[in-house]
Amino acid sequence: MSLSDFFINYSDEQTCKAFFKSRRELYGISCEHCGSLHLSWNEKESRWRCRECNFATGLKQGTVRKIQI
Ligand SMILES: [Zn+2]
Repeated sequence: MSLSDFFINYSDEQTCKAFFKSRRELYGISCEHCGSLHLSWNEKESRWRCRECNFATGLKQGTVRKIQI
């Protein structure tokens, strides 16, 4: 897929998010805090939440943020 195809196919934010989500899930997601493989997708936050430690993992790699509870 070329870059222009990407923008044609993923022009709106929702579609773009869905694309990144499916890509990440394809390669497998683990919690970067505790290493758990039990993560739940949080639609409202558009990120995964670790079921063990509640660490949040964002859609884009390298943009993982720790959230204080
Ligand atoms: Zn965790």
